[in-house]
Amino acid sequence: MSTEMAGAAAPGEIREQWLRVREMLRAEFGDTAFRTWLKPLDLGGFDHDKVVITVPTQFIRDWIVTHYADRIRSLWTSVNPRVRTIALLVQPSRPRPVPALDRAPQAPERSAADGGAPRGELWAEGERETLDELGARLDPRFTFETFVVGKPNEFAVAAAERVAMSDSPPFNPLFLHGGVGLGKTHLMHAIGWRIRQRAPAKRVVYLSAEKFMYQFVRALRQKDVMSFKELFRSVDVLMVDDVQFICGKESTQEEFFHTFNALVDRGRQIVISADRSPADLSGLEERIRSRLGWGLVADIHPTTYELRLGILESKAERLGCEVPRPVLEFLARHITSNVRELEGALNRVVHHTRLFGAPMTVELCREILRDLLRAHERRVTIDEIQRAVAHHFGLKLSDMSSSRRARPVARPRQIAMYLCKQLTTRSLPEIGRKFGGRDHTTVLHAIRQIERLKEEDPQLAQDLELLVRQLRG
Ligand code: ADP
Ligand code: MG
Repeated sequence: MSTEMAGAAAPGEIREQWLRVREMLRAEFGDTAFRTWLKPLDLGGFDHDKVVITVPTQFIRDWIVTHYADRIRSLWTSVNPRVRTIALLVQPSRPRPVPALDRAPQAPERSAADGGAPRGELWAEGERETLDELGARLDPRFTFETFVVGKPNEFAVAAAERVAMSDSPPFNPLFLHGGVGLGKTHLMHAIGWRIRQRAPAKRVVYLSAEKFMYQFVRALRQKDVMSFKELFRSVDVLMVDDVQFICGKESTQEEFFHTFNALVDRGRQIVISADRSPADLSGLEERIRSRLGWGLVADIHPTTYELRLGILESKAERLGCEVPRPVLEFLARHITSNVRELEGALNRVVHHTRLFGAPMTVELCREILRDLLRAHERRVTIDEIQRAVAHHFGLKLSDMSSSRRARPVARPRQIAMYLCKQLTTRSLPEIGRKFGGRDHTTVLHAIRQIERLKEEDPQLAQDLELLVRQLRG
């Protein structure tokens, strides 16, 4: 150790001052923070107007620099006005196994508390990398600007924006849940980008629960859980995606819970996502599950037709591609599972037409997306529709394909054709064939007729709604 005891104060006196400063720190920051961060500090020496404090690891050192060093210095100055500088020296208390996460080289003594470097610059290159390695990169496409807001997600978006714009957690955690491909990950990245923009010094870590587990297991194997803990507890905003993944994984859950609590205690923001609500996360310990629901739980609902259309328009524009309206409507109507598939479908159609220079039509879409559409076809079949409609209007099934033109039969038949267009991906000729070999123009006429009538006739509109509901089950 390079520091000589010197200066006017005797070592005993300095040690006594140190103990007083420690007690003041404990009183000021509380027991938890003290135990975690301040207790490992030790008095290293005293040189003229500089006190040297040793810390066991690089990460604790950085944490102290950014969070406590100023306070330590001013407290010390208050008990001994001669003290002007606090220097933090990394000095492992005993040799440690090969560090797993803490790869940063041990820095030589650096004078930290004497003003100087702004907070953001206190991170040397190696340390930044370690942090990056801890989390995952944010996808540049996933920002608030590219996220299309609609009824199904407006609440979640508002909550995410609150978190991204607040200096201290407005609710903790923010728990986002919803089915696959509905935008959870996108929103988390958007939060990350916005915070990086607003407050670049904040340490934002985004990672999947799977990666969290992987890191934890690796730390266990390398007997370096301490670094793991320090590392995770030093972030300002922790976002863990798809936590359903750790259901049933006991020790990971436990560690996650500790990290979670430690961060919440320190007023750090946590954002969680899962494919279900906290209440539905089985395989998670009860106390953890209930704790996850303490903040704000925001669900993202399945998309509506309007939202899908909005997303398609926005994506088409981003692709720099003029997509005809009927094609957008066709995709919005038929690819209903989730946004990821919707995007995929649009990409396929756009790439295909670019490659082959064919005009983009609904027919072409049907062709290109045949496999996808088949998978998506709701289990509603033309037969089912005919059956349901006949039943609803007290007709025989055969009336659907008969040639009778009397209104009490013809109108329900038109309704059935209209529903076939709405609920299946069958083409007009296919539908016509199923209705007693009618021509596709007859089917088109029927569809137009019903579209017009349902605006004028509330009874008809109600019949339609009932049938759709019943058929979609
Ligand atoms: P999740 O994490 O819920 O499974 P993602 O966030 O990965 O879903 O979203 C899947 C894809 O859909 C991403 O490419 C994302 O950008 C896109 N996406 C989802 N919702 C929207 C939306 N409302 N506006 C724009 N893109 C969206
Ligand atoms: Mg996701």
